[in-house]
Amino acid sequence: MRTPRDLLDVVVVGAGMVGAAAALALDRAGLRVALVDARVDSAPTAADPVDLRVVAVAPHAERLLERLGVWRDIIGVRAGPYCRMHVEDALGGASLDFDAADYGWPRLGHIVENRLVAGVLNAAIAREGRIRAEIPAAFARAEPASHGMRVHLADGRRLDTRLLVGADGAASPVRVDAQIGVDGGEYGQSALVCHVEHDSAHAGTAWQRFLPSGPLAFLPLADGRSSIVWTLPLARAGKLRDADPEVFEAQLAKASDGRFGAVRLCSPRATYPLRRQIAQRFAAPGLVLVGDAAHVVHPLAGQGVNLGFEDVAALLAVVESARGAQRALFAATDLSRWARERRSEATLAARAFDGLNRLYAIADGPLVPLRQFGLGLVDRIVPIKRRLAERAAGIRAG
Ligand SMILES: Cc1cc2nc3c(=O)[nH]c(=O)nc-3n(C[C@H](O)[C@H](O)[C@H](O)COP(=O)(O)OP(=O)(O)OC[C@H]3O[C@@H](n4cnc5c(N)ncnc54)[C@H](O)[C@@H]3O)c2cc1C
Repeated sequence: MRTPRDLLDVVVVGAGMVGAAAALALDRAGLRVALVDARVDSAPTAADPVDLRVVAVAPHAERLLERLGVWRDIIGVRAGPYCRMHVEDALGGASLDFDAADYGWPRLGHIVENRLVAGVLNAAIAREGRIRAEIPAAFARAEPASHGMRVHLADGRRLDTRLLVGADGAASPVRVDAQIGVDGGEYGQSALVCHVEHDSAHAGTAWQRFLPSGPLAFLPLADGRSSIVWTLPLARAGKLRDADPEVFEAQLAKASDGRFGAVRLCSPRATYPLRRQIAQRFAAPGLVLVGDAAHVVHPLAGQGVNLGFEDVAALLAVVESARGAQRALFAATDLSRWARERRSEATLAARAFDGLNRLYAIADGPLVPLRQFGLGLVDRIVPIKRRLAERAAGIRAG
């Protein structure tokens, strides 16, 4: 196959938070990029109601979004800063508190709507007009070619590229097409999400309580309400999603031990079945997987999309270092190293979140006092606590 005249450097499939960030980052690095998605929502404005899906964005992800010139637009609409984090064990009440001020940091992160982040990134892509946006268009399949990859869209068109980036979410048609398997499985739990008003102020604290049925989080929204992420066994999550609002509110107040006083539901409720899933390879010749296409982790630590943004930042570093050394872009050795490092980071994170989820599901026996003791101890040992805070805030310890 001769090198096609309209050869692209990168085709990104998936214009969600991670894919749109990848496309913009690689475009800013001077590459010829196309972005393919079956559909993209516009960014909500400040007048729109707060969307149900939110994420805790860590400082390192904020820095990437700042570098891409979109962070200002995101917080210009709304973002809930949080400066404190409280984690407690429902059995026995041991707790761990982090305060950004203790480390001289302005905050630990922001709670932001998924739709806002993806919408603002896609708006920047449309405004700047350099990226070839194939939206709406669906990825159908890809085949290796001498120049990299030939990508076939469902409407019959094709794109030739040096590198295909699969950022197409947990079900990733790109990953499936490349016959890359996944490790992991179902948790048998769902995350129930909704927004609530409450009597006691959240005071900019991301609050999490580990119950034997799963963790319950109150994430502080900019408007004083909280976004709930409540992990529950599948059947109970479905029942609570469909229960009368008063029943739901009473159960939520009880599960939060009355910490926020009376709670009032002020949004629809939705449930997301949870799974752990790590792609067996994050790269193949001419192909890399990023974001949920590569890894899906338990939401208890709020790290899923943050890991995805780290994939993007690391891929950008690979491009910049190849450029700096005047080496060919996307050399197999560079992509393999990137994939090894990213897979090991995601696997470690997924296992740690799994372990925590299991540890706190234990309702009795000797491990319960032991974990109480452990939590209390961590709260008192300053260097360990600092390292944990750095992990939670996505600030890399040296
Ligand atoms: C309840 C819950 C709470 C969470 N909380 C947090 C948190 O606090 N912090 C955090 O970091 N993470 C959190 N996460 C994880 C986070 O939401 C995900 O990691 C993130 O949304 C994944 O983004 P993505 O861009 O990789 O994939 P997606 O958002 O799934 O985007 C994939 C894109 O690919 C497109 N696509 C799919 N198939 C095709 C095709 N054939 N052709 C073209 N396009 C296609 C889709 O249209 C979509 O736009 C949470 C997850 C859950 C379930």
